[in-house]
Amino acid sequence: MTSVVWFRRDLRTRDLPTLLSADKDALALFVLDKRLTEPSGAARLAFLYRCLRDLDEQLDGRLLVVSGDPVELVPRIAKQIDATSVHVSADYAPYGRERDDKVEAALGDIDFVRSGSPYAVAPGRVTKPDGTPYKVFTPFSRAWADHGWRKPADTDASTVDWIEPPRTSRIPKDPAGVPELPGAGEAAALAAWEKFRDERVDGYSENRNRPDRPGTSWMSPYLRWGCVHPRTLLGDLTPGPYRNELAWREFYADVLWHKPDSARQNLDRRFDKIELDDDREAFDAWCQGMTGFPIVDAGMRQLLELGWMHNRVRMVVASFLVKDLHLPWWWGARHFMKHLVDGDLASNQHNWQWAAGSGTDAAPYFRVFNPTTQGEKFDPNGDYVRRFVPELRGVTGKRVHKPWEIDGIDYPKPIVDHAHEREVALARYNSIKSQP
Ligand code: FAD
Repeated sequence: MTSVVWFRRDLRTRDLPTLLSADKDALALFVLDKRLTEPSGAARLAFLYRCLRDLDEQLDGRLLVVSGDPVELVPRIAKQIDATSVHVSADYAPYGRERDDKVEAALGDIDFVRSGSPYAVAPGRVTKPDGTPYKVFTPFSRAWADHGWRKPADTDASTVDWIEPPRTSRIPKDPAGVPELPGAGEAAALAAWEKFRDERVDGYSENRNRPDRPGTSWMSPYLRWGCVHPRTLLGDLTPGPYRNELAWREFYADVLWHKPDSARQNLDRRFDKIELDDDREAFDAWCQGMTGFPIVDAGMRQLLELGWMHNRVRMVVASFLVKDLHLPWWWGARHFMKHLVDGDLASNQHNWQWAAGSGTDAAPYFRVFNPTTQGEKFDPNGDYVRRFVPELRGVTGKRVHKPWEIDGIDYPKPIVDHAHEREVALARYNSIKSQP
């Protein structure tokens, strides 16, 4: 008997439960689906293609990569090789769930077997004692840790005998304009993790908020594509701040699973009534890193240059977009999704909603980040700003966070008065918070 192993967000062979459920003879398949590739910019696409090349090498060149609609292609290819089953890691995001239901229906007599997921605990599993979902992170994270996760599945590329693909495979060339990216694929993911675990995880809580230091793990692109499973990381960790960050990823996946519409609309529907601006020029200045606020501009330019941005700075630029520019959070979320190498619907949309105050477990609405003091606090010597904003390289120390106090610099003046916009934001938030 023959199976199809349909890879999606699990581009690895170690700790991959689908390899245990599949038959010994199996076809490895990946479908480039334009619903997923079109919203991706050069960074995420290139990273995906490189991960696919790495996987293909692991499988001795036997990964079949085809482009088109999975609802048509997966059943057609399964029938072509007389497969009796198709094996996947379950997808919990709104589009993936719908697509998988359609593929399952189109497969007819061929079994569609879901085993495992991109999460330590599958979305929907952790609930309050009364069976309802958690809406607040901290109790969720406790219940999530108590629930626990499976042991890693003992698999590698040789667990299955990969059959010769029935048609020609094509992994596209990297698109133009790819930023500098870390190594892609499973071996690179494991090497990056081991280095972080051995050298930096102990200093994580001290360094994680410092964009001027290499304080975070950079595991997000690997988790995005499943080059490594979070279980592997959790197996090396004791409870602590890093484990807590992985729990945020699981929490947002859980929230999106319960409320798929929250990918596109406010989770707290009172926010539908908040007054928003639509200043495209201000939005462009934000996208290009030309707002005149150095920490904001450094972050936005880091995004364009590396396809990645430090978490602290993601929070600062998101707050700036929604609270200083009063623009819709989904404008910012769309820009992020285009450029981020780790762009992930659940994490992105819900972190944006956290910043906007419209999400679950939101930041208190009266917390408006001051971009200047955030810069001074988390980039105290200005090294992060100087790295990404060349116009300010001649300014020494933390003066770099107040360039408007220095004459003769060719750098934009602040596009807004933060103190004033803060008041505007608070007034608008107060007006909806007082509604039922
Ligand atoms: P580390 O600090 O080393 O954290 C380890 C892992 O924990 C991360 O790889 C990630 O999987 C998880 N994690 C950490 N913080 C968060 C968080 N706040 N929410 C969810 N998971 C978290 N993360 C994405 O993976 N994809 C996104 O599209 C994304 N968009 C974001 C948008 C905004 C506005 C904000 C504020 C945050 C966003 N994040 C997103 C979360 C976070 O910024 C990144 O996961 C993190 O910066 C990735 O770098 P790292 O792997 O070095 O993080």
